[in-house]
Amino acid sequence: MPSSIPTPQQQDQAHCWHPFTQHAEWCAPGFKPLVLVEGRGALLCDSEGREYIDGNSSIWTNIHGHRHPKLDAALHSQIDRVAHTSFLGFTNPPAARLAAELCGLWPKGSFTRCFFSDDGSTAIEVSLKMAAQFWQQTGHPEKRRFIAFTNAYHGDTMGASSLGGIALFHARFADWQFPATLVNSIEELSSLNPGEVAAIVVEPLIQGAAGMRLWPRGMLAGLREWCTAHDVLLILDEVMTGFGRTGKMFACEHENVVPDFIALAKGLTGGYLPLAATLTTERVFNAFLGGADQTFYYGHSYTGNQLGCAVALASLDVFRDERVLERLQVQIATLTELVGELSQHRHIAEVRQCGFIAGIEVRRDRKDPYPHSDLIGSKICHTARRHGLLTRPIRDTIVLMPPYCITDEQLERAVRALYAAIDEVCGQ
Ligand code: PMP
Repeated sequence: MPSSIPTPQQQDQAHCWHPFTQHAEWCAPGFKPLVLVEGRGALLCDSEGREYIDGNSSIWTNIHGHRHPKLDAALHSQIDRVAHTSFLGFTNPPAARLAAELCGLWPKGSFTRCFFSDDGSTAIEVSLKMAAQFWQQTGHPEKRRFIAFTNAYHGDTMGASSLGGIALFHARFADWQFPATLVNSIEELSSLNPGEVAAIVVEPLIQGAAGMRLWPRGMLAGLREWCTAHDVLLILDEVMTGFGRTGKMFACEHENVVPDFIALAKGLTGGYLPLAATLTTERVFNAFLGGADQTFYYGHSYTGNQLGCAVALASLDVFRDERVLERLQVQIATLTELVGELSQHRHIAEVRQCGFIAGIEVRRDRKDPYPHSDLIGSKICHTARRHGLLTRPIRDTIVLMPPYCITDEQLERAVRALYAAIDEVCGQ
């Protein structure tokens, strides 16, 4: 007898609108969205009981795995007190402690202030508005220009996407975005007048949404030098790279760089809840002390959310208690070995790795990119599902960046699944 209760798939296809998704395909008869219902460690389970490896850490957010007992316990214990209270005019213990702990991760005298928001995009918005207002309030209203890099991705809100350098996502909105200058490399900075520049924004070490593209070694240190020499603020977007992804707690540690702002989100809560933080220095903070006119008029309803902050604190505890960064070094070496084998494949042109992130670029016979309309990356990821791996492509680059708790056996399984899927879609 047909049930009158609609399935999650039916409800979804009738009412949801998904990010970065073509709904002519999603809602087509015969397409059945995957419904994820449970997770444990590096594994996720669908509504039909099938198990998958979470190959992209649920869009780069999860770090210690799903249902980590310490993260779960922190949430249970916080929910027994209160879930959310306003950070406008009040404080709360988990947010205050988290701000102190996040600043405490940096050299003394560098970051002293933490502004909470909700996601990567808003963490960037905060840094942009703070930088703009900082120069207005320190006698340099002429420092207005923001610099970003070609192929950059800093989020999808209008402000953050003004700095975006990916034509497919950003070009059509150009008329509404504030003017930012895009450069290809730090060499191009010499053609700019730094006296007009408020700040430079960069994804350190690796540009994520660009297809996991690595910066040349030393680029970040060179950028810091240029910014210091010309009194330009440096904003690092560590939304993807923060919290261990590159093998150190923050990517900028690889080049001994401390920026003027850092935007953190995704892994901040271990991938449990939307929460973001923008850290900055006492120099920036001091410029906002004064009267009503000097106030930073910015904020969101869920700023300093108690549940988010409680789980973020538990995540930092896990880093310490389980010596996560130490263990990660071994796993990074295992990943290098495994994806090294992948690069033997006839249709894999390049494997780009940065810490526990791998981008596997597929090209026909390693030479010609497949036509965009072939959606090869997407087909590979769909096929990989049948082999027990969930991930997403960026065009024809397949992302492999699982939670740090993944076992060697699971990691091997993930790479084997990818190999099989590429064989099936592209031919052996
Ligand atoms: N910056 C970077 C480097 C990112 O990778 C992302 C998201 N992929 C963002 C910003 C935006 O973060 P969110 O999606 O949480 O707004």
